Amino acid sequence: NKVVAIVKKAIIKDKTVVIVSALGGITDLLLMAAELAADGNELYKEKLITIEQRHMEAVKQLILVAQQSQLLSLVKKGCNEIEDICNGIFLLGELTARSKDRISSYGEWLSSQIISATFSAAGTANEWKDARELIVTNSAFSIADVDFAATNEKIKQFFEARISSLFIIPGFIAADKKGITTTLGRGGSDYTAAIIASALSAITLEIWTDVSGMMTADPRLTNNAKIISHISYQEAMELSHFGAKVIYPPTIQPVMSKNIPVRIKNTFAPEDAGTLIESVATKNGNIVRGISSINNMALISLEGSGMIGIPGFSKRLFEALSSEKINVILITQSSSEHSICVGIEAVAIEKAKQAVDAAFSNEIALQK
Ligand code: ASP
Ligand code: MG
Repeated sequence: NKVVAIVKKAIIKDKTVVIVSALGGITDLLLMAAELAADGNELYKEKLITIEQRHMEAVKQLILVAQQSQLLSLVKKGCNEIEDICNGIFLLGELTARSKDRISSYGEWLSSQIISATFSAAGTANEWKDARELIVTNSAFSIADVDFAATNEKIKQFFEARISSLFIIPGFIAADKKGITTTLGRGGSDYTAAIIASALSAITLEIWTDVSGMMTADPRLTNNAKIISHISYQEAMELSHFGAKVIYPPTIQPVMSKNIPVRIKNTFAPEDAGTLIESVATKNGNIVRGISSINNMALISLEGSGMIGIPGFSKRLFEALSSEKINVILITQSSSEHSICVGIEAVAIEKAKQAVDAAFSNEIALQK
């Protein structure tokens, strides 16, 4: 109902496209059910019951009994499909990335159908459109890459031919060239919205979430953390990568290239100003926009006089790490060239140390 109120205000002014995420926790439940089924664990059936109940409950709360039947049968149909797929996974005892995407796609499919019907029941005409017919990706299931040329073309074509003033579209899901369901990565609904906003050169992109914007620090760690009112695209991208999980990092790129302002707003406190992300953020005396942190990191530092003035040390360090498929999160090198320091995930530290020790065994033996 809060969503309906927020959207109704927007459509008075402009043609509006609403991208819907799954109900809270549903994507996790869907994937959990699929994993249990693949393990031959019948408990998957209980997860499916919970998933169905959550959606049925939402329908019953949002829509008058007399108007419910069509939506209830749609929700039931979706839930039956989820069950059929999970039964298949249970029988086969195997779960591919492709099947995971198929299963997790139902979260957004169901929520967007419910939202669309809720608008209709509230007298707001709208058009539901399957994102799989608009967003084309490669077949890298679970975190597919968008084919922007094909996608932009499809989006433009679809919207040009339409007169509705309100569109409801499931986020997170897409399809590859063969039409097989793919997904854009966890949190990907924000990205769907940015892709569509960019293709349509939208006036603005609003991300409605459950916090009142990006913050100067993690409020769980810093009790005087404040909401950032203005931030540039670059700063927002950096903060979103550094653990400020308000917005899915890939979201910024498509809107930044079109200079579309992004507003992060709180569904539960719509009057709060939120955070405005645009090309140049106004300076309000604060040069440092925010500080964020990542847990469970490890630092490797490579030190020695043997590196000074000799090209190729960093290449060898990064090669050693990349050959072990270790992802580097942060890099520093002092100007004296006496040390290089890289941040990696703590779980990879043993593997990393072995790889680096092996790569530099000669220098280490020579005490360089
Ligand atoms: N439902 C998906 C997820 O949980 C996408 C999203 O919420 O943006 O990852
Ligand atoms: Mg989300």
